[in-house]
Amino acid sequence: MTTVAEHQAAVRALIASHWRPMTEQVPTGAALGRVLAADVTSPIDLPPFDNSQMDGYAVRAADSDGLGEASTGRSLRITGHIAAGDPIRQLEDGAAAIMTGAPLPLGADAVVPVEAVGRPGEFAAVGDAIELRAQIEPGAFVRPRGSDLAAGGVLLTAGTALGPAQLGALAASGVTTVPVRARPRVLVISTGAELAEPGEPLRPGAIYDANAVSLSAAITLAGGVALATGVYSDDPGHLRMALEAAGPVELVVTSGGVSAGAHEVVRDTLAPLGLTFDSVAVQPGGPQGLGAITVSGFPTPVLCFPGNPVSALVSFELFLRPLLRGPRPVLRLPLAASLDSPVAKHQVRRGRITADQTVELVGGPSSHLLAAYARSDALVQVPVGVDHLDAGESVEVWRIDE
Ligand code: AMP
Ligand code: MG
Repeated sequence: MTTVAEHQAAVRALIASHWRPMTEQVPTGAALGRVLAADVTSPIDLPPFDNSQMDGYAVRAADSDGLGEASTGRSLRITGHIAAGDPIRQLEDGAAAIMTGAPLPLGADAVVPVEAVGRPGEFAAVGDAIELRAQIEPGAFVRPRGSDLAAGGVLLTAGTALGPAQLGALAASGVTTVPVRARPRVLVISTGAELAEPGEPLRPGAIYDANAVSLSAAITLAGGVALATGVYSDDPGHLRMALEAAGPVELVVTSGGVSAGAHEVVRDTLAPLGLTFDSVAVQPGGPQGLGAITVSGFPTPVLCFPGNPVSALVSFELFLRPLLRGPRPVLRLPLAASLDSPVAKHQVRRGRITADQTVELVGGPSSHLLAAYARSDALVQVPVGVDHLDAGESVEVWRIDE
């Protein structure tokens, strides 16, 4: 029997020996969810110029020297009015009314908020005066040029997943295209004579194909492009035909037909082509196959997951997702209730993180309980060597609620 770590390493080695790192340049606006293939630097200072953090008055802080509790105020004449979008001006003397985001005039080094000298929203006109009442620190209410990031600085590092904040930062830097990892094309094949396409009438003895949809969705969320097909048969000839009809892909993932039954279509078809089939010490997800075959003229890695819908998804989480997208967020949380686990196997249970930060199991260990999985937001990892855990004992928990 193979350990989870051994099978993870075998899958990693298989994929590493077939995939070259592939990069493409995409428009920033179309890069949501993509993963950066290289560091991206900002070509400009962020912000690009010193600007006001408040609606107020741009002043020289030195003009407030000596002001304090005891002293009377000091009058400054308003010599200008600067709105956001105006060019950078010079503060000759006195003070200039300035709006949030407007460029600080040369010669000024601080901003006094409008409410500190009068009523909010009521600005002194050019030629009028304002009264400073307190000492002003140089730099007060100024957002200095480059204070978020200096030009040439690394804005985002390779491997960063691009979400709203990352895309916004790229846009703020004026970066219009970014290098991202190319999406691997993954052919997903469900197998089994009992399967029916959702939407078709369900004949007695048949079940709907859950795995084509669930594995495709998992692959898409992990950054791949899923191409799903169903081989609703246990005839090796049908699976061979589906593989021969496939276009070029970077990976094939099958589900079903790998255990110890009399009609194991994936094993019967692919073992003669050189794939190896093994029992991994994990529950669910024990029977696994891997290797490479020729698809559309190219040597292509193949991963064979078991057919039970929970086994298929757990197999994806353990063996494929880390390579496509990286590890899930890992927590250690106390169990809400006790559990039992086969001592010789790594057990993966479905769970839900409670409001008081414990984890409660959802459904039993059986691998057909897909509706229970659908109510879960976590996978509870019970290692080999553990046969029982009491309520309150801490376990490793992977958050899967992405
Ligand atoms: P197998 O791995 O082919 O022995 O299948 C194990 C169990 O999973 C059987 O009960 C199958 O009916 C079920 N199963 C296999 N493939 C799927 C699928 N694509 N969707 C839902 N259930 C499946
Ligand atoms: Mg089957």
